[in-house]
Amino acid sequence: MKGTLEFGNIYTQTIEANWLEKKDTVLDILRIDLLHEVVSGNKWFKLQYYLQDARQRGYDTIATLGGAYSNHIIATAFASKYAGIKSIGVIRGERPRVLSRTLEQAMEAGMELDFVSRSIYSDKASIMQQLPGVYWVNEGGFGIRGAEGAAEILQYNPHAFKYTHIACAVGTGTMMAGLIIASTQKQQVIGISAMKGNLGLEQQVQSLLPVQEQVKNFHIFHDYHFGGYAKHPPELIHYMNQLWEQHRLPTDIVYTAKTFYAVEQMVTQSLIPPGSKILMIHSGGLQGNRSLPDKTLAF
Ligand SMILES: *Cc1c(COP(=O)(O)O)cnc(C)c1O
Repeated sequence: MKGTLEFGNIYTQTIEANWLEKKDTVLDILRIDLLHEVVSGNKWFKLQYYLQDARQRGYDTIATLGGAYSNHIIATAFASKYAGIKSIGVIRGERPRVLSRTLEQAMEAGMELDFVSRSIYSDKASIMQQLPGVYWVNEGGFGIRGAEGAAEILQYNPHAFKYTHIACAVGTGTMMAGLIIASTQKQQVIGISAMKGNLGLEQQVQSLLPVQEQVKNFHIFHDYHFGGYAKHPPELIHYMNQLWEQHRLPTDIVYTAKTFYAVEQMVTQSLIPPGSKILMIHSGGLQGNRSLPDKTLAF
């Protein structure tokens, strides 16, 4: 495993395919997944200003919450380590006999893991009370500082303003809010929800935008969840293996494979108008594929 973050590894991959050519459409993928082998690109961007704030305010420990395969937990463990701050991860569910690779690596990076039952986990206020004196980061890095950090993602494509559409996966909506902030008035930001029927998301994204940004053009699609959050039916796995074979593009089961699929559908059905230039953010999350049985994926 690499010990450092390699911002120089981030590049833009152009996708070549018949379904794009037919619609005279450009699809480029901004590969922020290449930042680090296990630290998901988008989580790192979202965390940077929380860490800075914690340090400036004199905290020596940050704490956050997540599940056993959480991209956010592992990113927090590594980001804290690099920032020289202690970290605590409150993990949903009883401690398993065998830890997931995600949790094992988070521990190796120095994170203290606190397991709590699902019922306690849902009571965030009482969890926070039990760990006083630490700097709390919301689950998934949700919040305004997270959006400010995510706004820097587009700096890694020098022509980002030339695209007509910017497409990304949506969990909490924090990354999307950042992309909206960084986009121009003429661009449309398209979000693909990883959840089923999370219809409060539009409002949640708005809540992270400064007033002057709320006029910007964004749209969230709710029909590409493949059954729900983290659900991965055989069609999705097959699709992911195809993406790998055809484009050497690795994707994750929770967010980026579904986003790519949605973009393909929307281009093919002209829901994204022919002649468009799309920049899709590959937000990372590949480490989460380790929840699958060995050899499920070709990459
Ligand atoms: C967390 C995550 C997202 C969702 O980001 P939000 O800011 O919560 O909407 C998208 N892609 C990947 C790979 C993620 O890990």
